[in-house]
Amino acid sequence: MDLLEYQGKQLFARHGLRVSEGRAVTTAEDAVAAASELGYPVVVKAQVLIGGRGKAGGVKLAGDDAEVRKHAQNILGMDIRGHVVRTLWIERASDIAAEYYAAVLLDRSAKKPLVMFSTHGGVDIEQVPKEMIVRHHVDALEGLSREEALAVAEQGGADADVRDGVADALTALYDVWISEDATLAEINPLIVTPAREVRALDAKVSLDGNALFRHPENQSLSDSENEDPIERRAREQGVQYVKLDGDIGILGNGAGLVMSTLDVVAQAGGAPANFLDAGGGSDADTIKQAVELILANDAVKAVLFNIFGGITRCDEVARGLIAAFQEIEPSVPFVVRLDGTNDVEGRKLLADAALPNVHPAKTMNEAAAMVVALAAGQPAGAAA
Ligand code: GDP
Ligand code: MN
Repeated sequence: MDLLEYQGKQLFARHGLRVSEGRAVTTAEDAVAAASELGYPVVVKAQVLIGGRGKAGGVKLAGDDAEVRKHAQNILGMDIRGHVVRTLWIERASDIAAEYYAAVLLDRSAKKPLVMFSTHGGVDIEQVPKEMIVRHHVDALEGLSREEALAVAEQGGADADVRDGVADALTALYDVWISEDATLAEINPLIVTPAREVRALDAKVSLDGNALFRHPENQSLSDSENEDPIERRAREQGVQYVKLDGDIGILGNGAGLVMSTLDVVAQAGGAPANFLDAGGGSDADTIKQAVELILANDAVKAVLFNIFGGITRCDEVARGLIAAFQEIEPSVPFVVRLDGTNDVEGRKLLADAALPNVHPAKTMNEAAAMVVALAAGQPAGAAA
């Protein structure tokens, strides 16, 4: 779950990280009112879930009412690489002596939190030579100590008089990352002002959606405007759905089974269009909802149902599927693999119903080969 800059800054402020005062607004009139409250000069900033807003013309300095109004009117509705601006952040402008970079993220290969710091901030961090970025792994049980943070600041070449300020910022950023269950907390630029104060001028924060239940106060931060519409629908329906880039719709019962289904389809040369865990649900409504979600993605050319019957019996799933198909009449082929409790009965039900465009399969590998062939416009038997 990605946060807008101003939402990230609000989290920063809660953890003692210094940010500039500002207001979120949605109209040019409110932008002017906010600016005169804050005092000039201000910065008018597009709030979209994509970086490089400055270069795209989405960040502008303004010295008076007329300038704020002009920039607000220009930026509202602006399309920044596919993201339409609906909210502005009006912030008291800062004087900048230096632009640094700081981030905390999880280094999966090292299985440790990673603190990154560079005195070459303000630009795309991918463009900064590796040797100019300090990478410091943190012991997750110990946390980031003040000594470590100071060492990182020094190693990165922060001016001596701001090392304390940088260490404060790094420890606060680490605190944001760990205690808010963030997957990324990034500041670019972390500025040094002429008065030698260290402050976050930008904020890029992603929260772990699966940990959101631990942070009810963050629930409202999800910017559903920018969320994928199918994922949003799924979330509202309480279905575990993740959109992927391929053209083969996937449904399974149980997260582990769905994950291995994705693997098997990829191995058979196909590209999954989604992850969908139907859980223990097998009634017609659940199946119908799931089929509708999968087919809401226009890229889907064929669908694989991979059901392993346990507590959820295969005959129940077959009945659910038959009822769902009567209502939806899907236009793309379905491969259905039923195995486990009552699988023989389930397959017989499906065969008797003779649903158009439904191809039963016995094993996962067979099912994957069939669905890959069907998605490529070949007959189901082509790959088998
Ligand atoms: P991004 O382009 O999406 O990363 O947006 P940023 O929030 O990082 O802003 C882009 C750039 O605008 C920064 O790197 C600064 O150089 C400049 N900028 C943003 N806020 C201010 C400010 O208050 N004062 C000054 N002088 N420049 C600013
Ligand atoms: Mn930035």
